[in-house]
Amino acid sequence: MRELSKNYINGQWVSWTGEMIDVHEAGTGEVIARVPASGPGEMEQAVAAADAAFGNWSESTLEQRIKVLEQLHAGLKERAPEIAETVCREVGMPIKLAAPIQAGMPAAVTKSYLKMLPDFPFTEQSGNSEVQYAPVGVVGCITPWNYPLHQVILKVVPAIAAGCTVVLKPSEVAPQTAYILAEILDGTDLPKGVFNMVCGLGQTVGDTLIKHPDVRMVSFTGSTRTGHQIGHAAAEDFKRIALEMGGKSASVILPDADLAAAVKGTVNNCLLNSGQTCTALTRMLVPADKHDEACELAAAAVAKMTPGNPLEETTRLGPLASAQQRDKVIDYIKLGIEDGATLIAGGPEAPEGCDKGYFVKATVFGDVKPDSRIAQEEIFGPVLCVIPYKDETDAIRIANGTRYGLSGAVWSADAGKAKTIAGKLRTGQVFVNGGAFNTMAPFGGFGHSGIGREFGKWGLEEFLEVRSLQL
Ligand code: NAD
Repeated sequence: MRELSKNYINGQWVSWTGEMIDVHEAGTGEVIARVPASGPGEMEQAVAAADAAFGNWSESTLEQRIKVLEQLHAGLKERAPEIAETVCREVGMPIKLAAPIQAGMPAAVTKSYLKMLPDFPFTEQSGNSEVQYAPVGVVGCITPWNYPLHQVILKVVPAIAAGCTVVLKPSEVAPQTAYILAEILDGTDLPKGVFNMVCGLGQTVGDTLIKHPDVRMVSFTGSTRTGHQIGHAAAEDFKRIALEMGGKSASVILPDADLAAAVKGTVNNCLLNSGQTCTALTRMLVPADKHDEACELAAAAVAKMTPGNPLEETTRLGPLASAQQRDKVIDYIKLGIEDGATLIAGGPEAPEGCDKGYFVKATVFGDVKPDSRIAQEEIFGPVLCVIPYKDETDAIRIANGTRYGLSGAVWSADAGKAKTIAGKLRTGQVFVNGGAFNTMAPFGGFGHSGIGREFGKWGLEEFLEVRSLQL
């Protein structure tokens, strides 16, 4: 059991003696760590430190920023095995995937900014004007539990690279890798106060952060419900916001597609991290005459996903991150059955042999009505909805028929056709015939999935104000 009774403020580890929050191991339910349920006072101190550090850091040279990010990158690589195991225990992602994704992505994203920074145009010419890109100021970063370090890095790295100072409020469900990050940054040349971290609950320290007058921007990843509250609070003070929120992404399988490959690709994506992925392809849209065959293929694919201890190399489906999340997902599975969807695989009972921990069976529903709740609401668990469509127009209508718009996929034997359909999806990214994830491409949502973009130059621009000098 790790007792992490401290916050990182102004380059110091500041002890906390008040109430603590339990962190549970997803695969066993046991308490594995405790972190501070800090109060508004700690957050006030952290914002004051970030505010005091802003003047100098905003004028730091590109070389200084690059050096710190190189040191951070080295630290992330060195501690990768510890990061992977920590997230595997906290969130439940199988270690075989947690190593390349939960530990690999933070290093890869840091590297992508190191590649991009030397050429980023912090000033450019427009007619008789010099356009300057200036750091926004103190940034409040608030992050979720599903990819706990990755989400943090996507904010902290570009914010620091832009010349901003940061106060991070990590998820209270999976906070331990934020401590690893603070330890790594503490060993770099980053001046004190540029990065601060305060652990605690959203309603207390999160609330203080988003309402603080010295915070000029809030960068948030999490649920659409919390994003709403943050948007309202930020509007009171005209703070900048970047919101990365939920999704209900559609995988559109066209009639000419390789059905087996498309179903396999969709199922693997949907079940990644036990479905606790904002971009998960949770709605599989298939031509009506191929519905039954697609359901059989999906059932065969999930049958291979036996749940088990995420720390074992052979496990492909881990538990959910918390008891609350497990209960919510089970309620959705019951709702799907009550609503008349056909249960093809899985169900609400606990999987055999998984009495401890927060396990849910990989579940497939067929004949799902596009307007039903399981097809409209983000379940955030291992649940796939197979939805039949009549023709292309119908498929596009169904794909675009939720309030979300984060991700999507199109599968077709005709690459040009697939690209045309992809261009009609009201969503921030589309994977065409299983295209690879790209850390230099913009990532973010349409509609209720978000405002702003992360990754690449778009992620950096979020933290920059524009000033023009007329010469
Ligand atoms: P959540 O909204 O419950 O919590 C996210 C963070 O916000 C936590 O740190 C929490 O403490 C904080 N918070 C909660 N209430 C707050 C308040 N009133 N004021 C300030 N802070 C507050 O989300 P979660 O359950 O941790 O994460 C799951 C959600 O995140 C899913 O909806 C998922 O789709 C979304 N997500 C989106 C992306 C993306 O890039 N679009 C990525 C990952 C996760």
